[in-house]
Amino acid sequence: MFNLSAKDYNKIVKFIKKNNIQILAIQAPEGLKTSIQEIELKIRSNNNILTAIYIEPCYGACDIPDLNLKELGFQGIVHIGHSQYINSTEIPTLYIELYLENNFEPTLKSSLNIFKPYKNIGLITTIQYIKHLDAIEKTLNSNGIKTHIGKPKIAKQDGQILGCDQSVAIVIKDKVDAYLYIGTGRFHPLGVAKATGRPVLLLNPENTKIEEIDKTELDKEEKKTAIKISKFNDAIRIGLLVTTKKGQANRNYIEIKEKLEKIGKEVYILIADNISPEKIEGLKLDFLINTACPRIEEDTIYSQPLINWDKIITEDLIS
Ligand code: SF4
Repeated sequence: MFNLSAKDYNKIVKFIKKNNIQILAIQAPEGLKTSIQEIELKIRSNNNILTAIYIEPCYGACDIPDLNLKELGFQGIVHIGHSQYINSTEIPTLYIELYLENNFEPTLKSSLNIFKPYKNIGLITTIQYIKHLDAIEKTLNSNGIKTHIGKPKIAKQDGQILGCDQSVAIVIKDKVDAYLYIGTGRFHPLGVAKATGRPVLLLNPENTKIEEIDKTELDKEEKKTAIKISKFNDAIRIGLLVTTKKGQANRNYIEIKEKLEKIGKEVYILIADNISPEKIEGLKLDFLINTACPRIEEDTIYSQPLINWDKIITEDLIS
């Protein structure tokens, strides 16, 4: 069970007062659903206002339903779990970041051997572990390992990575000979390894040892992309996936459609808020191109091969 800190509740009180909010929506990622009612009840009773829980799936800080909620008379949104991403919203929006507790020191100390081939390590993590970067730096520095933390372009905090923003790794590429990623899942570390060509070590908070993303895993990824590219080349009917989610919406969909048509593709623009496989069931398509969150390519299985639009560009599949 998760709860907000007293500091977070105070922030919310100030936000409500400052914006004179009487009707407030509360939005949180799926993982917090089991705790959201307690949080909502506390905000409602502490502030004597009307509150509602926004139950659409929420995948990231880019997913702010301000327009729809404004239409319904909502005067503010409290978005829990991510750092600020969208600066301009139709109704005031407060981001409450979520940090997870951990002590990485024992794992770091018992895994120092893995750092031996490297002198300079770039540190990258997700918002949930960002507060641990100082302590991790200290432990590594005191064991003779130099550390570097980059400033991201889109993400809010130094060292922070997003699926759609790997700049935090790229900006320090020339200073480091490997990266240490602190977090769960393989999407971010694989992305960094591919984007920088540097080794990536993985400190998973759920494990007690550090592992290195190995070459065979990267080769497998490259092979997957090569297969998709060949299927893209053969495909005629393309479904161009476009989301209406504020921070993910690719407004260049007409231009993209025209580019695809120029190389002989028959393009169907498919619009949805939450893009998911069942929404395209029944449509006759050979291939899907995703212009929304890049994680869709990794996290979801579709009947058709799917590739992110930025890969079409980086792989030079279109002029
Ligand atoms: S586009 Fe995807 S990766 Fe980027 S913030 Fe949104 S949910 Fe996260």
